[in-house]
Amino acid sequence: MASAITSADLTYEYAPGVGAVGLDLEVPEGQVYGFLGPNGAGKSTAIRMLTSLIRAQRGSASVLGLDPWHDASELHSRIGVLLSDQPAPRQHTGQSLLALLSRLRDRPDSIDRGTALAERLSLDLSKKGHELSLGNRQKLGLVTALAHEPDLVILDEPTNGLDPLLQREIGSLLREIADGGRTVLLSSHSLPDVEAIADHVGFIRDAILVEQLPLAALADRAVRRLIVRFDRTMSAADFDGVPNIEKLLIAADGEVSIEYRGAVAPVLSRAGELNAQTIEAHPVELEETFLALYRGEGAGQ
Ligand code: ADP
Repeated sequence: MASAITSADLTYEYAPGVGAVGLDLEVPEGQVYGFLGPNGAGKSTAIRMLTSLIRAQRGSASVLGLDPWHDASELHSRIGVLLSDQPAPRQHTGQSLLALLSRLRDRPDSIDRGTALAERLSLDLSKKGHELSLGNRQKLGLVTALAHEPDLVILDEPTNGLDPLLQREIGSLLREIADGGRTVLLSSHSLPDVEAIADHVGFIRDAILVEQLPLAALADRAVRRLIVRFDRTMSAADFDGVPNIEKLLIAADGEVSIEYRGAVAPVLSRAGELNAQTIEAHPVELEETFLALYRGEGAGQ
């Protein structure tokens, strides 16, 4: 499969080991790639290198076949970017900003598309940047990143500060972009948010790319947790021989926390045989997934 982004040893260090170090990225074309890592992991630093904002100190990158530093202006006409700390121009309304960008990009069609996107996200384009709330500024950033139908969309924490309904809407929007054959790189510190829409995920921690893999492969590697309540106190022996269970925490009140990896079916069927009363699935924590990836076969790059 062709790649929209590749990099080899891509590095920018603010101080030794701080920033993004030795990244070998591979972002498949026509997919949503979730770029995951806790705050301070190096996601923005990597994105800044890929979008020509800072020049890599070492290594190389190819973004849509272009060198982000040397081919910056051509690249910018083909990508749409939303940075994590992107300010909204204070004195521009959404409308005037869309008009300005359409002229700069020589894409008159982008005004109508931007207007439709704003409607979809319930963004008022008649307001000036400084009148917009944080969430609405974020929406405006998205609209301007997407209006010219770029081949590649790079979004740094695009749903920060937005309510869950809107997050879902943006997720569908990004899914549609990838389903139409274009590529989305989406950074986030939240695995559940990204899991809902990504095809491929890359994990970065402490400036290092830990692992990148298709989402389907992550399902086999990530550790998940169920909290199951029974009508009596359970014992570890009750779960003997159940495949996929990694860890059990048994409380005296009948509650059992079950960490498992892979398919949930064997766990659910034993819980059913044991007359489980309630089951809650807990969101996977990014940190736990990192640990599972580090422990897992082939992890660590
Ligand atoms: P993320 O986007 O994953 O939150 P960043 O790429 O913003 O992470 O930051 C990676 C590391 O680089 C962090 O330790 C951060 O404090 C540091 N850093 C980011 N920008 C600068 C800067 N301009 N000067 C010095 N250190 C920076």
